[in-house]
Amino acid sequence: MDHCLFCKIIENRIPSRRVYQDDVCIAFLDINPVNRGHVLIVPRLHHEDLTSLPPEVAAHVASKLPALCAAVVRATGAEGFNVIVNNGKVAGQTIFHGHWHIIPRFHDDTVNWPWPQGAYFGDEIQQIGFAIEKELAALQNPESGA
Ligand code: AMP
Ligand code: ZN
Repeated sequence: MDHCLFCKIIENRIPSRRVYQDDVCIAFLDINPVNRGHVLIVPRLHHEDLTSLPPEVAAHVASKLPALCAAVVRATGAEGFNVIVNNGKVAGQTIFHGHWHIIPRFHDDTVNWPWPQGAYFGDEIQQIGFAIEKELAALQNPESGA
């Protein structure tokens, strides 16, 4: 993808500080870290967000998370970390080549977390639960007409 910043980084047309790479994905330091040691893990395959990523590529990236997260924690002395994927502009995505953020956390850092949480009323939790189950079944078995 010619216009994609992360494809350019993957192709070494833009420099980055890589900390891991294999045939499927690369990991490098975010140039504007939330905290020092903030890493991005990026599949080599260009895809807009998590919904368009082949499951086997997602599984490969996920399999790398435990060691990468542990390395970030050990290297930074973090007390914890967040793994975040922003999907869509409304969710804060700015680079439309999907990626995971690994953000080391410290008790006195400036991150504005946790996010505000609400509650369900009446049968709302059942309604949204059924709707998600129905969509998932349709995506996983398009022939069924579910
Ligand atoms: P997102 O907002 O989830 O799409 O995340 C994109 C991330 O890419 C941001 O945290 C940026 O700081 C980071 N970023 C943008 N340009 C570069 C670059 N050239 N090298 C490393 N990280 C970058
Ligand atoms: Zn790309």
